[in-house]
Amino acid sequence: MNVTIVGGGIAGLATAHSLLKYADSENLPVSCTLVERAQYFGGKILTEVIDDFVIEGGPDSFLSYKPWGVGLCRELGLGDRLMGTNTHYHRTYVLFNGRLREFPEGLVTLAPSQSLPLLTSPLLSWTGKLRLMMDLFISKPSTDGTDESLASFFRRRFGVEVFERLIEPLMTGIYAGDAEQLSLKATFPRFIDFEQRYGSIIKGMLASRRQRMKTNLGANTKLTTFVTLRGGLSEMVRALISSLEKVEKEKMLLRNGVSVTGMTQLVSGKNPKYEIKLGNGESLVSDAVVLATPAFTAADLLMPLDDEIAEQLRCIPYTSTATVSLAYPVESLSHAHALDGFGFVIPRVENRPLVASTWTSTKWAHRSPNDHALLRCYLGGVGREDVVRRDDHDIIRLVQGELRDILGIISDPVLSRVYRWENAIPQYLVGHLDRLVKIEERLIQYPGLCVTGSAYRGVGLPDCIHEGELTAKKMVDYFLASGDVKK
Ligand SMILES: Cc1cc2nc3c(=O)[nH]c(=O)nc-3n(C[C@H](O)[C@H](O)[C@H](O)COP(=O)(O)OP(=O)(O)OC[C@H]3O[C@@H](n4cnc5c(N)ncnc54)[C@H](O)[C@@H]3O)c2cc1C
Repeated sequence: MNVTIVGGGIAGLATAHSLLKYADSENLPVSCTLVERAQYFGGKILTEVIDDFVIEGGPDSFLSYKPWGVGLCRELGLGDRLMGTNTHYHRTYVLFNGRLREFPEGLVTLAPSQSLPLLTSPLLSWTGKLRLMMDLFISKPSTDGTDESLASFFRRRFGVEVFERLIEPLMTGIYAGDAEQLSLKATFPRFIDFEQRYGSIIKGMLASRRQRMKTNLGANTKLTTFVTLRGGLSEMVRALISSLEKVEKEKMLLRNGVSVTGMTQLVSGKNPKYEIKLGNGESLVSDAVVLATPAFTAADLLMPLDDEIAEQLRCIPYTSTATVSLAYPVESLSHAHALDGFGFVIPRVENRPLVASTWTSTKWAHRSPNDHALLRCYLGGVGREDVVRRDDHDIIRLVQGELRDILGIISDPVLSRVYRWENAIPQYLVGHLDRLVKIEERLIQYPGLCVTGSAYRGVGLPDCIHEGELTAKKMVDYFLASGDVKK
């Protein structure tokens, strides 16, 4: 049985890795070809090492409490390369009326798990604080299971002030999206659970924090909430590729620098065959296909096969962002902000072009020479995509202006890099999960055909890895169930 995986981002790579592993454990004769359009594998994961600076163009870390990222790193022998955030300077700032203020501790993970820092924070008026604490008393709505936007949910639970000043900028960082449109069910389902089980988000967060501390004590782990790899996240991609390359060529073929341009079903029925057309004129015939591309590419590829699935996939919109990394000699920053934390976020109500900034060299070790500071800035997102289309010079000038106003950095950077990510972050709009059900119901007609990746059940790296693992499991189950497998 052979499988073609289209897309060599983290989801496609994790699918290939798990597929070989699961097939092996079932003693199934499965072979796999992974086709990637770009010359390099990894998709959005892109680390560059320039003059002793480790620069992440795309993701720079991942959540450790979602087990699939850390799990995969350990499985690949990268356990001792995992690196936590700086535990000494761990504060995060938020821009408030043009000035940086410390973000209340405990809120950075998106809900208050400690009340004192919030109640003493100058970021909220007394009315705002009282309204926040009302979360403890507001009864849960009689639910009919309908989806709700993040903005509507958090305004309902915590009030407008907390939502606009604290919650919105954090969410913008994750989804680069518009909270008025993003689905609560698809992005933060655990808050629905907190509301249902505890009648309060604050109570739910406290319970979950206690649970996590217990688990961490039991497991004797000391991972910080966000982790990365010492030499950058591309280490994970290199380790995956090297593990896949060790498998004999008849079982695992990696094809980069060639795109998939179309696909058809050659044989339908219970054990179908698919033809995958490549940009160089070749075609591959496969028993099964995994589309691990963005949803709009999967839509184009599936259009000739099933226009209904294509239509549903096309309704998952994407937004564009850019990251800009700038390095400065420490001595040139003597009059600027102390950079004594992880960075800052900017609420939309502040009306600035900059979205957020990570102080990379404070947040992580091994990112820059000791006598230099490395900063990473974020631009773009829903409603602010235009900036991504400007040229590098313009973007850097814009970011420098923002850093001068906010941090007092007046010197020129000694190194600057702009990474544009056009149509890169999927938006899970209200009703997203219903759309997924429709896609899955329709895909049943095409045995052995799957879609996977960040477009569906989580944009974070651990979620994409988990998606890949589940897709591989589904493939193996399909082969086991489809009678003609010779073990
Ligand atoms: C700027 C930025 C910062 C981020 N920061 C974080 C972070 O800090 N932590 C975190 O957990 N997540 C972060 N994310 C999200 C995370 O990086 C992505 O959700 C994840 O990497 C997506 O993986 P994927 O495999 O689903 O898709 P992709 O990485 O997009 O991979 C899809 C692959 O398919 C290939 N492809 C497309 N069309 C074809 C075709 N026709 N034929 C062959 N190949 C094709 C593409 O070239 C690509 O390599 C960030 C994302 C961005 C853009």
